Amino acid sequence: YNRQRLLVVANRLPVSAVRRGEDSWSLEISAGGLVSALLGVKEFEARWIGWAGVNVPDEVGQKALTKALAEKRCIPVFLDEEIVHQYYNGYCNNILWPLFHYLGLPQEDRLATTRSFQSQFTAYKKANQMFADVVNEHYEEGDVVCFHTYDYARHFVSACTRILGLEGTPEGVEDQGRLTRVAAFPIGIDSERFIRALEVPDVIQHMKELKERFAGRKVMLGVDRLDMIKGIPQKILAFEKFLEENASWRDKVVLLQIAVPTRTDVSEYQKLTSQVHEIVGRINGRFGTLTQVPIHHLDRSLDFYALCALYAVTDVALVTSLRDGMNLVSYEFVACQEAKKGVLILSEFAGAAQSLGAGAILVNPWNITEVAASIGQALNMSPEEREKRHRHNFHHVKTHTAQEWAETFVSELNDTVIEAQLRI
Ligand code: UDP
Repeated sequence: YNRQRLLVVANRLPVSAVRRGEDSWSLEISAGGLVSALLGVKEFEARWIGWAGVNVPDEVGQKALTKALAEKRCIPVFLDEEIVHQYYNGYCNNILWPLFHYLGLPQEDRLATTRSFQSQFTAYKKANQMFADVVNEHYEEGDVVCFHTYDYARHFVSACTRILGLEGTPEGVEDQGRLTRVAAFPIGIDSERFIRALEVPDVIQHMKELKERFAGRKVMLGVDRLDMIKGIPQKILAFEKFLEENASWRDKVVLLQIAVPTRTDVSEYQKLTSQVHEIVGRINGRFGTLTQVPIHHLDRSLDFYALCALYAVTDVALVTSLRDGMNLVSYEFVACQEAKKGVLILSEFAGAAQSLGAGAILVNPWNITEVAASIGQALNMSPEEREKRHRHNFHHVKTHTAQEWAETFVSELNDTVIEAQLRI
């Protein structure tokens, strides 16, 4: 039985490579939403195409790395340092990423962007060509690639009709009688992997320690890459407003914010890091005591088990993305809450709001007054209402898994192929 091949093309491979010698490399799997989601997909034989995160100028090194990566089903694109700087740090992260998340460019960057635009765009085109060449080399007849929210699919169809002059239909795009089907397939998580983790002795021990550490206080949790789309400053300011207005909660609640460093070479991200540190410092100075602070902010990632333990002991999870494709963290939190039935406060601008909206408290993260009030609502919610909301979300997360996503995707794709054959 041959599994369907899937080529995943992304800037970064899901592994980080460290050079140990002229022709030896060590590899480490790295975290991220896309990687976690695809871990749950057994339907496909996935191959990753992307950059390994290192500059490898010499042929000996390139050959050795290609070989080491092949064992992990990864295929490298060798971008040099200058291209990565211009294309990825520059064009992708400073221009495209904020625009695609409807954030716009920071004022002070507009002029700088105008100046560097041409060279960054040239590098962007060159990098895309390099990716296309590698894809071309590895593509086999029958290999597949979808969007995960309705908006993205719709914008893609508009771009095809406006820029390429093709015909858009409710099904997708038509080009000279050939239909390319465009549809939204929201991804999920491997929920069982999280549920099973909660039975591992290490995780149970870790949960016990966390409960002792925060005894007498409600635990609120944020887990995000330290990215402007995640609305971390907005979240922390809303928490401050809640403390300001609810003096009796000040020694009874703690916010744990895990902020995973990301794109640390980009100056906008460095600025965000200092901004967040400043706000956290100010609030802890304002509401902390000699023995306790209201916010524990960590600039690091956690391993899978530590993360599961944290999700499981949390009373209220706070997701305040200003824009987010899906936000798997909200799914993972729900998967780990069968015992506790905690509350999810979720941004209406995260893709997950379309699926977990009925069980979560939906907020507009820009509206700090609303978020602060929602924190109060969540902390004071009756067990009956928590149970009811949790049931709804848990059911969704358990049934809309990464596995189910893959099955729907393959079957829709096969239908499209059959339909196309019938047209001829
Ligand atoms: N994650 C992790 N370690 C951490 C924090 C987060 O592995 O310390 C994972 C988390 O489990 C989730 C992913 O990072 O699967 C984040 O995915 P999400 O869709 O929420 O956001 P993205 O980072 O893709 O924008």
